[in-house]
Amino acid sequence: MALPDRFEENADIARRFPDLHPALGPQQAVVESNRCLNCFDAPCTAACPTHIDVPGFIKKIASGNLRGSATRILEANVLAASCSRVCPVEVLCEGACVMHHYNRKPIEIGRLQRFAMESFYASGAAIPKRNVPERSEKIACIGAGPASLACAAELKQQGFQVTVFERRALPGGLNTYGVAEYKLRTADSLREIEMIRELGVEFRAAEVADEAALVKLEREFDLIFLGVGLGAMHKLDLPGGDHAGVVDALEFIASYKLGEPLPGVNSVVVIGAGNTAIDAAVAAKRLGAEEVKILYRRDARNISAFGFEFEHAKQEGVEFIWRTQPKAVSIGPDGKLHSLLCVHTELNEVGELMGTEDAEFTVRCDMVIPAIGQSPLIEFLAKLRGLAVERGRIVIERATGATSNARYFAGGDCVNGGREVVDAVADGKRAALGIVTSLASRTAVLRG
Ligand SMILES: Cc1cc2nc3c(=O)[nH]c(=O)nc-3n(C[C@H](O)[C@H](O)[C@H](O)COP(=O)(O)OP(=O)(O)OC[C@H]3O[C@@H](n4cnc5c(N)ncnc54)[C@H](O)[C@@H]3O)c2cc1C
Ligand code: SF4
Repeated sequence: MALPDRFEENADIARRFPDLHPALGPQQAVVESNRCLNCFDAPCTAACPTHIDVPGFIKKIASGNLRGSATRILEANVLAASCSRVCPVEVLCEGACVMHHYNRKPIEIGRLQRFAMESFYASGAAIPKRNVPERSEKIACIGAGPASLACAAELKQQGFQVTVFERRALPGGLNTYGVAEYKLRTADSLREIEMIRELGVEFRAAEVADEAALVKLEREFDLIFLGVGLGAMHKLDLPGGDHAGVVDALEFIASYKLGEPLPGVNSVVVIGAGNTAIDAAVAAKRLGAEEVKILYRRDARNISAFGFEFEHAKQEGVEFIWRTQPKAVSIGPDGKLHSLLCVHTELNEVGELMGTEDAEFTVRCDMVIPAIGQSPLIEFLAKLRGLAVERGRIVIERATGATSNARYFAGGDCVNGGREVVDAVADGKRAALGIVTSLASRTAVLRG
Protein backbone atom coordinates (compact mmCIF):
# COMPACT_ATOMS: atom_id res chain seq x y z
CA MET A 1 0.00 0.00 0.00
CA ALA A 2 1.52 3.28 -1.03
CA LEU A 3 0.72 5.68 1.76
CA PRO A 4 -0.90 8.80 0.36
CA ASP A 5 1.73 11.45 -0.47
CA ARG A 6 -0.45 14.10 1.01
CA PHE A 7 -3.87 13.87 2.56
CA GLU A 8 -5.88 16.85 1.37
CA GLU A 9 -7.22 18.42 4.53
CA ASN A 10 -10.61 20.00 4.10
CA ALA A 11 -10.35 23.66 5.14
CA ASP A 12 -13.96 23.80 6.33
CA ILE A 13 -13.50 20.74 8.56
CA ALA A 14 -10.25 22.19 9.95
CA ARG A 15 -12.10 25.43 10.80
CA ARG A 16 -15.00 23.65 12.47
CA PHE A 17 -12.83 21.24 14.46
CA PRO A 18 -10.00 23.19 16.08
CA ASP A 19 -7.97 21.37 18.72
CA LEU A 20 -9.95 20.59 21.85
CA HIS A 21 -6.92 21.29 24.03
CA PRO A 22 -4.55 23.91 22.64
CA ALA A 23 -0.88 22.95 22.42
CA LEU A 24 1.55 24.12 25.10
CA GLY A 25 4.05 26.78 24.05
CA PRO A 26 7.77 26.25 24.87
CA GLN A 27 7.67 28.47 27.98
CA GLN A 28 4.51 26.84 29.30
CA ALA A 29 6.02 23.39 28.69
CA VAL A 30 9.13 24.21 30.73
CA VAL A 31 7.09 25.71 33.58
CA GLU A 32 4.74 22.72 33.62
CA SER A 33 7.55 20.17 33.43
CA ASN A 34 9.29 21.83 36.40
CA ARG A 35 6.21 21.14 38.54
CA CYS A 36 6.74 17.36 38.21
CA LEU A 37 8.06 15.78 41.42
CA ASN A 38 9.94 13.06 39.54
CA CYS A 39 8.35 10.45 41.79
CA PHE A 40 10.09 7.21 42.55
CA ASP A 41 7.94 4.29 41.33
CA ALA A 42 5.93 6.87 39.42
CA PRO A 43 2.20 6.02 39.58
CA CYS A 44 1.63 7.85 36.28
CA THR A 45 3.95 5.39 34.51
CA ALA A 46 2.22 2.44 36.17
CA ALA A 47 -1.19 3.78 35.07
CA CYS A 48 -0.12 4.05 31.41
CA PRO A 49 -0.86 0.77 29.58
CA THR A 50 2.35 1.29 27.56
CA HIS A 51 4.32 2.30 30.67
CA ILE A 52 5.89 5.42 29.24
CA ASP A 53 8.65 6.71 31.54
CA VAL A 54 6.66 9.85 32.40
CA PRO A 55 9.05 11.51 34.89
CA GLY A 56 11.95 10.61 32.57
CA PHE A 57 10.52 12.34 29.51
CA ILE A 58 9.23 15.30 31.53
CA LYS A 59 12.66 15.86 33.07
CA LYS A 60 14.19 16.01 29.59
CA ILE A 61 11.69 18.71 28.58
CA ALA A 62 12.68 20.70 31.66
CA SER A 63 16.35 20.45 30.69
CA GLY A 64 15.64 21.43 27.07
CA ASN A 65 16.48 18.00 25.60
CA LEU A 66 13.35 17.71 23.45
CA ARG A 67 14.66 15.08 21.08
CA GLY A 68 15.76 12.93 24.05
CA SER A 69 12.33 13.40 25.57
CA ALA A 70 10.52 12.22 22.42
CA THR A 71 12.92 9.31 21.97
CA ARG A 72 12.30 8.19 25.53
CA ILE A 73 8.53 8.28 24.87
CA LEU A 74 8.83 6.44 21.55
CA GLU A 75 10.81 3.62 23.16
CA ALA A 76 7.62 2.70 25.03
CA ASN A 77 4.91 3.78 22.60
CA VAL A 78 5.41 4.22 18.88
CA LEU A 79 1.99 5.93 18.55
CA ALA A 80 2.89 8.44 21.26
CA ALA A 81 1.86 11.42 19.15
CA SER A 82 -1.71 10.20 18.67
CA CYS A 83 -1.93 8.87 22.22
CA SER A 84 -0.94 12.32 23.55
CA ARG A 85 -4.04 13.68 21.83
CA VAL A 86 -6.61 10.91 22.24
CA CYS A 87 -5.81 9.23 25.57
CA PRO A 88 -8.36 9.73 28.34
CA VAL A 89 -5.53 10.99 30.56
CA GLU A 90 -8.02 11.91 33.28
CA VAL A 91 -8.53 8.21 34.02
CA LEU A 92 -4.97 7.09 33.16
CA CYS A 93 -1.64 8.88 33.87
CA GLU A 94 -3.03 12.23 35.04
CA GLY A 95 -5.66 10.47 37.10
CA ALA A 96 -2.85 8.69 38.98
CA CYS A 97 -0.59 11.75 39.46
CA VAL A 98 0.39 12.26 43.11
CA MET A 99 -0.54 15.94 42.85
CA HIS A 100 -4.12 14.86 43.55
CA HIS A 101 -3.01 13.88 47.08
CA TYR A 102 -1.81 17.44 47.68
CA ASN A 103 -5.01 18.94 46.29
CA ARG A 104 -3.03 20.34 43.40
CA LYS A 105 -3.70 20.16 39.68
CA PRO A 106 -2.16 16.99 38.19
CA ILE A 107 0.78 17.47 35.85
CA GLU A 108 -0.48 17.96 32.31
CA ILE A 109 1.21 14.80 31.07
CA GLY A 110 -0.82 14.52 27.86
CA ARG A 111 -0.05 18.06 26.74
CA LEU A 112 3.64 17.68 27.67
CA GLN A 113 3.85 14.46 25.68
CA ARG A 114 2.22 16.20 22.75
CA PHE A 115 4.70 19.07 23.07
CA ALA A 116 7.66 16.65 22.98
CA MET A 117 6.24 14.70 20.03
CA GLU A 118 5.33 17.77 17.99
CA SER A 119 8.78 19.27 18.54
CA PHE A 120 10.20 15.96 17.33
CA TYR A 121 8.11 16.03 14.15
CA ALA A 122 8.86 19.69 13.54
CA SER A 123 12.60 18.94 13.72
CA GLY A 124 12.15 16.45 10.84
CA ALA A 125 13.52 13.63 12.97
CA ALA A 126 12.69 9.98 12.30
CA ILE A 127 12.13 7.18 14.81
CA PRO A 128 15.67 6.04 15.70
CA LYS A 129 16.31 2.61 14.14
CA ARG A 130 17.76 -0.02 16.44
CA ASN A 131 21.08 -1.45 15.36
CA VAL A 132 20.04 -5.10 14.98
CA PRO A 133 20.83 -7.71 12.30
CA GLU A 134 18.20 -8.37 9.61
CA ARG A 135 16.12 -11.49 10.28
CA SER A 136 14.70 -13.69 7.54
CA GLU A 137 11.39 -14.51 9.27
CA LYS A 138 8.32 -12.82 7.81
CA ILE A 139 5.33 -11.66 9.84
CA ALA A 140 1.97 -10.46 8.53
CA CYS A 141 -0.25 -8.08 10.48
CA ILE A 142 -3.90 -8.08 9.43
CA GLY A 143 -5.43 -4.61 9.87
CA ALA A 144 -3.54 -1.31 9.98
CA GLY A 145 -5.04 0.04 13.21
CA PRO A 146 -3.09 0.99 16.34
CA ALA A 147 -2.66 -2.64 17.49
CA SER A 148 -1.07 -3.83 14.23
CA LEU A 149 0.97 -0.64 13.82
CA ALA A 150 2.53 -1.08 17.27
CA CYS A 151 3.17 -4.77 16.61
CA ALA A 152 4.65 -4.09 13.16
CA ALA A 153 6.93 -1.28 14.38
CA GLU A 154 8.34 -3.37 17.24
CA LEU A 155 8.96 -6.40 15.00
CA LYS A 156 10.64 -4.24 12.36
CA GLN A 157 12.82 -2.70 15.06
CA GLN A 158 13.86 -6.25 15.97
CA GLY A 159 14.95 -6.95 12.38
CA PHE A 160 11.98 -8.98 11.03
CA GLN A 161 10.25 -8.58 7.64
CA VAL A 162 6.81 -7.15 8.38
CA THR A 163 3.85 -6.62 6.06
CA VAL A 164 0.62 -4.93 7.15
CA PHE A 165 -2.62 -5.74 5.24
CA GLU A 166 -5.41 -3.17 5.31
CA ARG A 167 -8.79 -3.37 3.62
CA ARG A 168 -9.59 0.35 3.75
CA ALA A 169 -8.12 2.96 1.46
CA LEU A 170 -6.08 4.59 4.26
CA PRO A 171 -4.17 2.92 7.09
CA GLY A 172 -4.65 3.80 10.76
CA GLY A 173 -7.93 2.06 11.65
CA LEU A 174 -10.04 4.17 13.97
CA ASN A 175 -7.17 6.63 14.50
CA THR A 176 -7.70 7.66 10.89
CA TYR A 177 -11.44 7.05 10.48
CA GLY A 178 -13.02 7.18 13.93
CA VAL A 179 -11.44 9.43 16.56
CA ALA A 180 -13.04 12.87 16.79
CA GLU A 181 -11.27 15.36 14.52
CA TYR A 182 -10.81 17.93 17.33
CA LYS A 183 -8.68 15.33 19.12
CA LEU A 184 -6.76 13.77 16.22
CA ARG A 185 -6.85 14.91 12.62
CA THR A 186 -6.77 12.28 9.90
CA ALA A 187 -3.69 14.00 8.47
CA ASP A 188 -1.87 13.67 11.80
CA SER A 189 -2.73 9.99 12.05
CA LEU A 190 -1.28 9.43 8.55
CA ARG A 191 1.84 11.45 9.36
CA GLU A 192 2.53 9.18 12.32
CA ILE A 193 2.08 6.05 10.18
CA GLU A 194 4.53 7.44 7.65
CA MET A 195 7.19 7.24 10.37
CA ILE A 196 6.41 3.56 10.83
CA ARG A 197 6.64 3.00 7.08
CA GLU A 198 10.02 4.73 7.13
CA LEU A 199 11.22 2.08 9.57
CA GLY A 200 10.76 -0.39 6.69
CA VAL A 201 7.30 -1.81 7.41
CA GLU A 202 5.50 -2.72 4.16
CA PHE A 203 1.83 -1.78 3.74
CA ARG A 204 -0.44 -3.67 1.34
CA ALA A 205 -3.95 -2.49 0.47
CA ALA A 206 -5.83 -5.78 0.60
CA GLU A 207 -8.59 -7.36 2.58
CA VAL A 208 -7.76 -10.77 3.97
CA ALA A 209 -11.29 -11.82 3.27
CA ASP A 210 -11.61 -15.58 3.08
CA GLU A 211 -10.04 -18.90 3.93
CA ALA A 212 -8.10 -18.98 0.67
CA ALA A 213 -6.48 -15.64 1.52
CA LEU A 214 -5.63 -16.88 5.01
CA VAL A 215 -4.08 -20.08 3.65
CA LYS A 216 -1.99 -17.99 1.23
CA LEU A 217 -0.83 -15.80 4.10
CA GLU A 218 0.05 -18.82 6.22
CA ARG A 219 2.24 -20.08 3.36
CA GLU A 220 3.98 -16.76 2.83
CA PHE A 221 4.49 -15.73 6.46
CA ASP A 222 5.94 -17.44 9.52
CA LEU A 223 3.44 -15.92 11.96
CA ILE A 224 0.39 -13.70 11.70
CA PHE A 225 -0.86 -10.95 14.01
CA LEU A 226 -4.59 -10.23 14.07
CA GLY A 227 -5.31 -6.55 14.70
CA VAL A 228 -8.65 -6.50 12.94
CA GLY A 229 -10.61 -4.43 15.47
CA LEU A 230 -14.37 -4.75 15.65
CA GLY A 231 -16.98 -4.93 12.90
CA ALA A 232 -19.72 -2.57 11.76
CA MET A 233 -22.06 -0.85 14.19
CA HIS A 234 -25.20 -2.63 15.28
CA LYS A 235 -28.10 -1.74 12.99
CA LEU A 236 -31.16 0.13 14.21
CA ASP A 237 -33.60 -2.74 14.07
CA LEU A 238 -36.81 -0.69 13.87
CA PRO A 239 -39.40 0.11 11.23
CA GLY A 240 -37.79 2.75 8.98
CA GLY A 241 -34.32 1.91 10.37
CA ASP A 242 -32.96 1.36 6.86
CA HIS A 243 -33.93 4.85 5.58
CA ALA A 244 -31.06 6.85 4.00
CA GLY A 245 -31.40 9.42 6.79
CA VAL A 246 -30.34 6.81 9.34
CA VAL A 247 -26.55 6.81 9.31
CA ASP A 248 -24.59 4.82 11.86
CA ALA A 249 -22.14 6.75 14.02
CA LEU A 250 -18.96 5.21 12.55
CA GLU A 251 -20.05 5.89 8.99
CA PHE A 252 -21.06 9.43 9.94
CA ILE A 253 -17.76 10.17 11.70
CA ALA A 254 -15.64 8.65 8.93
CA SER A 255 -17.43 10.63 6.22
CA TYR A 256 -17.08 14.01 7.93
CA LYS A 257 -13.40 13.29 8.70
CA LEU A 258 -12.86 12.70 5.00
CA GLY A 259 -14.51 16.04 4.20
CA GLU A 260 -18.15 15.13 3.48
CA PRO A 261 -20.51 18.02 4.33
CA LEU A 262 -23.79 17.66 6.25
CA PRO A 263 -26.19 19.24 3.76
CA GLY A 264 -29.66 20.34 4.81
CA VAL A 265 -29.61 18.71 8.23
CA ASN A 266 -30.82 20.89 11.06
CA SER A 267 -31.89 18.47 13.72
CA VAL A 268 -30.17 15.23 14.61
CA VAL A 269 -30.99 12.50 17.11
CA VAL A 270 -28.15 10.26 18.26
CA ILE A 271 -29.18 6.99 19.89
CA GLY A 272 -26.93 5.67 22.67
CA ALA A 273 -24.81 7.32 25.35
CA GLY A 274 -21.28 5.95 24.98
CA ASN A 275 -18.19 7.87 23.89
CA THR A 276 -18.98 7.21 20.21
CA ALA A 277 -22.46 8.70 20.63
CA ILE A 278 -20.92 11.80 22.23
CA ASP A 279 -18.36 12.13 19.40
CA ALA A 280 -21.08 11.85 16.76
CA ALA A 281 -23.36 14.34 18.53
CA VAL A 282 -20.62 16.95 19.04
CA ALA A 283 -19.55 16.51 15.41
CA ALA A 284 -23.13 17.02 14.17
CA LYS A 285 -23.32 20.23 16.21
CA ARG A 286 -20.00 21.50 14.84
CA LEU A 287 -21.04 20.61 11.30
CA GLY A 288 -23.94 23.02 11.65
CA ALA A 289 -26.97 21.08 12.95
CA GLU A 290 -28.94 23.47 15.15
CA GLU A 291 -30.52 20.84 17.36
CA VAL A 292 -28.66 17.73 18.42
CA LYS A 293 -30.23 15.39 20.95
CA ILE A 294 -28.84 12.24 22.49
CA LEU A 295 -31.56 9.77 23.28
CA TYR A 296 -30.86 7.16 25.93
CA ARG A 297 -33.09 4.53 27.48
CA ARG A 298 -31.60 4.86 30.97
CA ASP A 299 -30.48 7.97 32.86
CA ALA A 300 -27.30 10.01 33.28
CA ARG A 301 -25.98 7.71 36.03
CA ASN A 302 -25.89 4.77 33.62
CA ILE A 303 -24.10 6.21 30.61
CA SER A 304 -20.92 4.49 29.48
CA ALA A 305 -19.31 7.72 28.19
CA PHE A 306 -16.53 9.18 30.33
CA GLY A 307 -17.71 11.98 32.65
CA PHE A 308 -15.52 14.58 30.90
CA GLU A 309 -16.94 13.58 27.50
CA PHE A 310 -20.48 14.00 28.86
CA GLU A 311 -19.61 17.47 30.23
CA HIS A 312 -18.01 18.38 26.92
CA ALA A 313 -21.14 17.41 24.97
CA LYS A 314 -23.30 19.59 27.24
CA GLN A 315 -20.93 22.52 26.74
CA GLU A 316 -21.21 22.07 22.98
CA GLY A 317 -24.99 22.42 23.26
CA VAL A 318 -25.98 18.76 22.89
CA GLU A 319 -29.26 17.99 24.69
CA PHE A 320 -30.03 14.69 26.40
CA ILE A 321 -33.36 12.89 26.44
CA TRP A 322 -33.23 10.31 29.21
CA ARG A 323 -35.33 7.20 29.79
CA THR A 324 -36.51 7.11 26.22
CA GLN A 325 -36.48 4.37 23.65
CA PRO A 326 -37.09 4.71 19.89
CA LYS A 327 -39.91 2.65 18.35
CA ALA A 328 -39.87 3.65 14.68
CA VAL A 329 -38.35 6.08 12.24
CA SER A 330 -41.13 8.20 10.73
CA ILE A 331 -40.90 9.15 7.07
CA GLY A 332 -42.83 12.18 5.75
CA PRO A 333 -45.01 12.20 2.58
CA ASP A 334 -42.01 13.71 0.75
CA GLY A 335 -40.02 10.54 1.53
CA LYS A 336 -37.69 12.41 3.90
CA LEU A 337 -36.92 11.38 7.44
CA HIS A 338 -39.25 13.35 9.60
CA SER A 339 -39.07 12.25 13.22
CA LEU A 340 -38.44 9.45 15.63
CA LEU A 341 -41.36 7.77 17.32
CA CYS A 342 -40.43 7.13 20.95
CA VAL A 343 -41.69 5.83 24.23
CA HIS A 344 -40.54 6.53 27.78
CA THR A 345 -38.88 3.75 29.72
CA GLU A 346 -39.08 3.09 33.41
CA LEU A 347 -36.29 1.86 35.61
CA ASN A 348 -36.65 -0.06 38.81
CA GLU A 349 -34.64 0.90 41.92
CA VAL A 350 -31.53 -0.99 40.66
CA GLY A 351 -31.59 0.69 37.27
CA GLU A 352 -33.09 -2.21 35.29
CA LEU A 353 -35.40 -1.39 32.42
CA MET A 354 -39.10 -2.06 33.03
CA GLY A 355 -41.98 -2.06 30.57
CA THR A 356 -43.95 1.13 30.22
CA GLU A 357 -47.55 1.89 29.47
CA ASP A 358 -46.78 5.48 28.47
CA ALA A 359 -48.15 6.97 25.28
CA GLU A 360 -45.88 7.29 22.29
CA PHE A 361 -44.42 10.67 21.38
CA THR A 362 -42.30 12.00 18.54
CA VAL A 363 -38.95 13.72 18.46
CA ARG A 364 -38.53 15.85 15.34
CA CYS A 365 -35.32 15.23 13.38
CA ASP A 366 -33.84 15.12 9.85
CA MET A 367 -31.22 12.53 10.66
CA VAL A 368 -30.87 9.63 13.08
CA ILE A 369 -27.44 8.39 14.14
CA PRO A 370 -27.48 5.05 15.96
CA ALA A 371 -24.41 4.65 18.18
CA ILE A 372 -25.35 1.40 19.83
CA GLY A 373 -22.05 -0.46 19.75
CA GLN A 374 -19.87 -2.26 17.24
CA SER A 375 -20.45 -5.91 16.49
CA PRO A 376 -17.57 -8.40 16.60
CA LEU A 377 -16.16 -9.80 13.33
CA ILE A 378 -17.76 -13.17 13.98
CA GLU A 379 -17.77 -14.36 10.35
CA PHE A 380 -14.12 -13.51 9.77
CA LEU A 381 -12.98 -15.06 13.06
CA ALA A 382 -14.93 -18.25 12.27
CA LYS A 383 -12.69 -18.72 9.19
CA LEU A 384 -9.62 -19.12 11.39
CA ARG A 385 -9.25 -22.78 12.22
CA GLY A 386 -8.59 -23.60 15.87
CA LEU A 387 -8.97 -20.02 17.04
CA ALA A 388 -10.73 -19.80 20.41
CA VAL A 389 -13.27 -16.96 20.47
CA GLU A 390 -15.48 -16.07 23.44
CA ARG A 391 -18.38 -13.62 23.15
CA GLY A 392 -16.95 -12.44 19.84
CA ARG A 393 -13.50 -11.73 21.30
CA ILE A 394 -10.35 -13.63 20.40
CA VAL A 395 -8.97 -15.43 23.45
CA ILE A 396 -5.27 -14.74 24.03
CA GLU A 397 -2.62 -15.39 26.59
CA ARG A 398 -2.34 -11.86 27.96
CA ALA A 399 1.44 -11.79 28.49
CA THR A 400 2.27 -12.82 24.91
CA GLY A 401 -0.78 -12.20 22.72
CA ALA A 402 -0.66 -15.89 21.68
CA THR A 403 -3.97 -17.35 20.51
CA SER A 404 -5.08 -20.98 20.60
CA ASN A 405 -3.79 -21.36 17.00
CA ALA A 406 0.03 -21.40 17.16
CA ARG A 407 0.33 -19.45 13.86
CA TYR A 408 -1.67 -16.49 15.16
CA PHE A 409 -1.22 -13.74 17.73
CA ALA A 410 -3.79 -11.03 18.40
CA GLY A 411 -4.42 -7.76 20.18
CA GLY A 412 -6.49 -4.57 20.34
CA ASP A 413 -10.26 -4.21 20.05
CA CYS A 414 -10.73 -7.71 18.57
CA VAL A 415 -9.41 -9.06 21.88
CA ASN A 416 -10.65 -6.56 24.47
CA GLY A 417 -14.04 -5.83 22.87
CA GLY A 418 -13.26 -2.12 22.33
CA ARG A 419 -11.18 0.00 24.68
CA GLU A 420 -8.70 2.80 23.99
CA VAL A 421 -5.95 3.41 21.44
CA VAL A 422 -3.26 3.06 24.10
CA ASP A 423 -4.59 -0.39 25.09
CA ALA A 424 -4.36 -1.50 21.45
CA VAL A 425 -0.79 -0.16 21.25
CA ALA A 426 0.18 -1.99 24.44
CA ASP A 427 -1.38 -5.22 23.13
CA GLY A 428 0.37 -4.91 19.78
CA LYS A 429 3.78 -4.40 21.33
CA ARG A 430 3.26 -7.23 23.84
CA ALA A 431 2.29 -9.55 20.99
CA ALA A 432 5.38 -8.51 19.02
CA LEU A 433 7.55 -9.57 21.94
CA GLY A 434 5.52 -12.81 22.17
CA ILE A 435 6.17 -13.42 18.48
CA VAL A 436 9.90 -12.85 18.94
CA THR A 437 9.98 -15.37 21.80
CA SER A 438 7.94 -17.88 19.81
CA LEU A 439 10.26 -17.61 16.78
CA ALA A 440 13.33 -17.88 19.01
CA SER A 441 12.07 -21.08 20.64
CA ARG A 442 11.19 -22.49 17.22
CA THR A 443 14.74 -21.77 16.01
CA ALA A 444 16.16 -23.37 19.18
CA VAL A 445 14.12 -26.54 18.54
CA LEU A 446 15.32 -26.70 14.92
CA ARG A 447 18.95 -26.26 16.02
CA GLY A 448 18.53 -28.74 18.87
C1 LIG B 1 -15.92 6.64 17.25
C2 LIG B 1 -14.77 6.19 18.10
C3 LIG B 1 -14.02 7.14 18.78
C4 LIG B 1 -12.95 6.73 19.58
N1 LIG B 1 -12.26 7.69 20.24
C5 LIG B 1 -11.21 7.31 21.01
C6 LIG B 1 -10.46 8.29 21.73
O1 LIG B 1 -10.77 9.48 21.70
N2 LIG B 1 -9.42 7.87 22.46
C7 LIG B 1 -9.04 6.56 22.51
O2 LIG B 1 -8.04 6.25 23.15
N3 LIG B 1 -9.75 5.61 21.86
C8 LIG B 1 -10.82 5.95 21.11
N4 LIG B 1 -11.55 5.00 20.46
C9 LIG B 1 -11.13 3.59 20.57
C10 LIG B 1 -9.93 3.29 19.64
O3 LIG B 1 -10.10 3.95 18.41
C11 LIG B 1 -9.76 1.80 19.46
O4 LIG B 1 -9.67 1.18 20.72
C12 LIG B 1 -8.50 1.46 18.64
O5 LIG B 1 -8.51 2.11 17.39
C13 LIG B 1 -8.39 -0.04 18.46
O6 LIG B 1 -7.32 -0.33 17.60
P1 LIG B 1 -7.29 -1.70 16.78
O7 LIG B 1 -6.02 -1.66 16.00
O8 LIG B 1 -7.56 -2.83 17.67
O9 LIG B 1 -8.56 -1.62 15.79
P2 LIG B 1 -8.99 -0.60 14.65
O10 LIG B 1 -8.53 0.77 14.95
O11 LIG B 1 -10.44 -0.81 14.47
O12 LIG B 1 -8.21 -1.11 13.37
C14 LIG B 1 -8.52 -2.37 12.78
C15 LIG B 1 -8.16 -2.30 11.29
O13 LIG B 1 -8.23 -3.61 10.72
C16 LIG B 1 -8.78 -3.49 9.41
N5 LIG B 1 -9.30 -4.82 9.05
C17 LIG B 1 -10.30 -5.52 9.67
N6 LIG B 1 -10.46 -6.71 9.08
C18 LIG B 1 -9.56 -6.78 8.07
C19 LIG B 1 -9.26 -7.77 7.10
N7 LIG B 1 -9.91 -8.95 7.07
N8 LIG B 1 -8.28 -7.52 6.20
C20 LIG B 1 -7.60 -6.33 6.21
N9 LIG B 1 -7.87 -5.35 7.12
C21 LIG B 1 -8.83 -5.57 8.04
C22 LIG B 1 -9.86 -2.44 9.58
O14 LIG B 1 -10.23 -1.86 8.35
C23 LIG B 1 -9.13 -1.44 10.50
O15 LIG B 1 -8.39 -0.49 9.75
C24 LIG B 1 -12.63 5.37 19.68
C25 LIG B 1 -13.40 4.40 19.02
C26 LIG B 1 -14.46 4.81 18.25
C27 LIG B 1 -15.31 3.78 17.57
S1 SF4 C 1 2.91 11.18 39.46
FE1 SF4 C 1 2.78 13.33 38.74
S2 SF4 C 1 4.40 14.37 39.87
FE2 SF4 C 1 4.85 12.19 40.06
S3 SF4 C 1 6.24 11.68 38.34
FE3 SF4 C 1 4.16 11.34 37.58
S4 SF4 C 1 3.60 13.30 36.61
FE4 SF4 C 1 5.37 13.75 37.94
